[in-house]
Amino acid sequence: MTPMRRRIPPQSGTGLKLAAGDLLVIIDPDGEQVADLTCFSDDDHTDGLSSGRTIDYNETLRLTTGNVLWSRRSRRLMTIVDDTCGVHDILLTPCSLEMFAILHGQQGHHPSCLENLVVGLRPFGVEERDIAATLNVFMNVAVDPAGPIAVLPPLSTPGTRTVLRAEIALVVGVTACSAEQSNNGSFKPIDLEVIPAQ
Ligand SMILES: [Zn+2]
Repeated sequence: MTPMRRRIPPQSGTGLKLAAGDLLVIIDPDGEQVADLTCFSDDDHTDGLSSGRTIDYNETLRLTTGNVLWSRRSRRLMTIVDDTCGVHDILLTPCSLEMFAILHGQQGHHPSCLENLVVGLRPFGVEERDIAATLNVFMNVAVDPAGPIAVLPPLSTPGTRTVLRAEIALVVGVTACSAEQSNNGSFKPIDLEVIPAQ
């Protein structure tokens, strides 16, 4: 059976629940589009994704097939089981209204991954204060060994996908990122498929 595909329109986001063993397929239909992903234990929304623990336990900044997303309290949340991109970011937080003002001098409202995660996750009882780290799927952040970082265009092309398996019951938030710099200057959709556990 072909799994149902749902589309996240440009500069928006969504929330969903996964059972243990479900697969979440994140697809970049048009190329060069980032999707911010965050996840929380369904039994305790304060135990969500930790970028620090994920970097520590995987001993890498370049997460790909076989790497695990870890929670603040060191539970396995998701495992990357397939990945046709290989370049994602786990360092940076989701783009926010404050980020656009601080880094880019943006005046007034600008759509952001943080706002879209807050809105998408609210129906599932996740509060803004619970949202911290994201895996920024397809985001291309170059890290100079001397320290500086640079946000470069994603390496994803039309149809590039990353597949993650839920290790426990989860609430998950996913966006089609709203930041100009992260997406090579244009905003595109992100497609999702959920393949139920066998
Ligand atoms: Zn974003």
